[in-house]
Amino acid sequence: ATRAREILERLGAGDPFDPDGEAGGGAGPRAADVIVSRSPIDGQEIGRLTPHTPAEVADVIGRAQGAFEQWRTVPAPVRGALVRELGELLREHKEDLGALVSIEAGKIVSEGLGEVQEMIDICDLAVGLSRQLHGLTIATERPGHRMMEQWHPLGVVGVISAFNFPVAVWSWNSALAFVCGDAVVWKPSEKTVLTALACQALLTEAARRVGAPEQISSVLIGEREVGEALVDDPRVPLVSATGSTRMGKQVAPRVAARLGRSLLELGGNNAAIVAPSADLDLAVRGIVFSAVGTAGQRCTSLRRVIAHESVRDELVEKLKAAYETLPIGSPLEPSTLVGPLIDESATSAFLAAIEQAQADGGTLVTGGEKADGVAGGQYVRPAIVDMPKQTDIVKAETFAPILYVLTYRDLDEAIALHNDVSQGLSSSIFTLDVREAETFVSAIGSDCGIANVNIGPSGAEIGGAFGGEKDTGGGRESGSDAWRSYMRRATNTVNYSTELPLAQGVEFV
Ligand code: NAD
Repeated sequence: ATRAREILERLGAGDPFDPDGEAGGGAGPRAADVIVSRSPIDGQEIGRLTPHTPAEVADVIGRAQGAFEQWRTVPAPVRGALVRELGELLREHKEDLGALVSIEAGKIVSEGLGEVQEMIDICDLAVGLSRQLHGLTIATERPGHRMMEQWHPLGVVGVISAFNFPVAVWSWNSALAFVCGDAVVWKPSEKTVLTALACQALLTEAARRVGAPEQISSVLIGEREVGEALVDDPRVPLVSATGSTRMGKQVAPRVAARLGRSLLELGGNNAAIVAPSADLDLAVRGIVFSAVGTAGQRCTSLRRVIAHESVRDELVEKLKAAYETLPIGSPLEPSTLVGPLIDESATSAFLAAIEQAQADGGTLVTGGEKADGVAGGQYVRPAIVDMPKQTDIVKAETFAPILYVLTYRDLDEAIALHNDVSQGLSSSIFTLDVREAETFVSAIGSDCGIANVNIGPSGAEIGGAFGGEKDTGGGRESGSDAWRSYMRRATNTVNYSTELPLAQGVEFV
């Protein structure tokens, strides 16, 4: 708690134990009286904030709308300066913000820092993009006419985020939204409010330095009800929501009911196929990082290995050996590779899933129990479970480090197993056979938004579009042309002739 408080003070984010401070809204009736932030490292309270009321949410959105009306008139390359400044501040405060991610979300030090690096990377990408938000010029069928498209700022973007990427998800959305001319209202996970306040403080400073409107970015503190108030507000043309499929299925119809747009980044159930020709040592390294990194709490965490029968035994042996040497403990210790789960309910879900898998005929190869860590924290031993078939528990996303092993005989069977889950986020194949690799990434291969060869499914770079299909929600964020979701397209036809020819040759005189 002391360290978190010191970091917040250095970042100019105020007092985490100030329920009536600026951080968490003012007076009025509230759904929850207080939002308590606890460190998963030892379960200790590190912050206590007052949530926003629905009336306050409406007020925040109103002020964001005002900021947007000003911001959209600033030329896009000039808007880039805000994001450049944010990137500079993130570089300057990388250690502090990374440490706060470790304290509040339980990530090991290098992953906490990696998350901040991802924010810096998206800022760099967005600054470049601020000069490239271009539309097409399209040939028209009418003489003396020109047809073109322009991309205009959209409005207030509502961002709802999950606990497991407490700062990066905001930056993926905001860095693009800001250069696109939008304002952002962010409802972070109620489990990671302090990191959100830290980001907001850095953005406020960046806005002050470049003279951008202060309300260009705001944070809403609260649980689901606060998220719902944001989702239902017609002044929010885009809701970008990251979290469980359950949440996405609640949010999407509400946004659709008012004909708003939603960008959904939901749960995954990511797999790796390990083919007969695979470089097994490389596969083991890729699998272990993807399956136990962030203690299995990434949307892209590897949850299923689909191994060819000829390599399965050797692969499982090697994985077991690697799992049994994993250092588990405080994420702040430099030697730790597996930190805590976010809270007690995550441990219960982990233990219950392992019990169910065994009831379904699975064999526990290693792990699957509570581990010693720091008193008060939720530490578990990552599990490998050998499964005779893909049962319902394997098809569900349990947000914890459980790796199910399935066996296949031919590639068609492997791809069928691979795709036979409701989620469609990330996927991979380990093979040295070019036919298998190309088939996997082709239209008849993986049905996911991300399909990799000889790398695990986890750990995407920001240059590519990020997101997935089916129950993962279909949204794309980050690189490539994901920026288009944050703008509105206008098609303009300009007549510079003295005639008025009509399209499709229609005569109307
Ligand atoms: P969660 O769904 O419990 O909560 C996510 C956010 O949604 C929180 O801010 C929460 O307050 C809010 N929320 C919940 N119900 C809501 C509703 N009805 N209306 C509005 N807001 C609502 O998820 P979590 O436990 O914080 O995170 C883990 C989940 O997130 C996993 O399923 C993981 O795969 C997913 N995730 C996906 C991605 C991705 O990019 N695809 C990234 C990170 C996490």
